[in-house]
Amino acid sequence: MHTQLNSYDLVLKNGWVIDPSQSLNGRFDVAICDGKIAAIAEQLPPYETKQEIAASQYLICPGFIDLHVHVYEWATTFGVAADDVGINAGVTTIVDQGSSSPFTFAGFQSEVIAKSKTDVRSFLLVNHAANQTIGSILSGLESPQKVKIETLIKLAQANPQIVRGFKVHADSGSISRWGMGVLALARQIGDQTNLPLYVHTGELFPVVEANRPNPEKLVENALTYMKAGDILGHCYSCQPDGLMGIRTQIPQWLLAAIEQGILLDLGHGLKFSFAVARRMLAQGVFPDTISSDAHGSFKNLHDDSTLTYSLCGAISKLVALGLDLEKAIAAVTLNPARVLKAETELGTLKVGSIADISILQLVEGEWCFFDALEEKLVAQQKLIPVGVVRSGEFIQPSGRFLRDLVARASA
Ligand SMILES: [Zn+2]
Repeated sequence: MHTQLNSYDLVLKNGWVIDPSQSLNGRFDVAICDGKIAAIAEQLPPYETKQEIAASQYLICPGFIDLHVHVYEWATTFGVAADDVGINAGVTTIVDQGSSSPFTFAGFQSEVIAKSKTDVRSFLLVNHAANQTIGSILSGLESPQKVKIETLIKLAQANPQIVRGFKVHADSGSISRWGMGVLALARQIGDQTNLPLYVHTGELFPVVEANRPNPEKLVENALTYMKAGDILGHCYSCQPDGLMGIRTQIPQWLLAAIEQGILLDLGHGLKFSFAVARRMLAQGVFPDTISSDAHGSFKNLHDDSTLTYSLCGAISKLVALGLDLEKAIAAVTLNPARVLKAETELGTLKVGSIADISILQLVEGEWCFFDALEEKLVAQQKLIPVGVVRSGEFIQPSGRFLRDLVARASA
């Protein structure tokens, strides 16, 4: 008797699979065909395949999603190469947080999205200054009077695959200049598009000192413009106007906001504090999504030498601080996929979803991490990306930006 074998393009054999979207944590074979997940089973029935990877040493997860990066290279001072924070860092989907505007979006599409192997999405900055405008421009931000919300809404509606939300700043600098004007516009745009707002927290832009807002009230006031599904960025920031600020107890209004469905994002960046993370984790407040906020120098054009953190580094740090590994994996797969309203195709290894996969090694042994304040954290494990499958294609990451995970060559 002749039986027809299942035929695949790629099989990852006997890997340790963690897929929170299906509550999987164990040994599985994953089969890929035509860029989609074709099968996942403890042991696949007899098959033939063009390529097979013995994965028993590896952790296999749905392709990681980094919800906060800056990758508009050349058009912004701080934009870095998309594929270097994407596939080359073990990440299959990245979301640019606010580097493009209606004036520059077409360039972002043709120069970044179209030329990247990584799946690149965008949150548009609500008050992005068009660099073509002659007039007073503050650090790339525009006053609310100059924002045309119809233009932003139209752009989002014309590009539903790419534009998945809107970025706005609730930092002391912006509020000291414009009060809550930009947040009020963001609320209108969010309501009219049914897309989430990503709200930056923590001092960032120059502050008009005469108008400096009360740091303890700032995030609480910003929340009055936010709804369930909106995101507070930089949740473990060391800045006094951040979520925790100098408090020791989580404020009631923050617990109430979380209860109502406001999401917290790590947004590692330059202000991540282990001490703040410890205080908040101890009181049961952890990030729904873990993101890197990977960006280059704000001051020098095209200078990525300042980028010393990565998404897998951020996950490793949170696990060292006590976050459960499965929860951490959900925070870079299922949870950000939900933010993107793409959970049927991304952040999952369900049969039929896009074959985007992160392949990692959980390396045991003592390793030192450092935070924004140079506090040291000794970890017993770290997560190193060793491969990705992007839309069915196996790619080996260059690891160029894994500077927090790889030992620096000693001088
Ligand atoms: Zn950022």
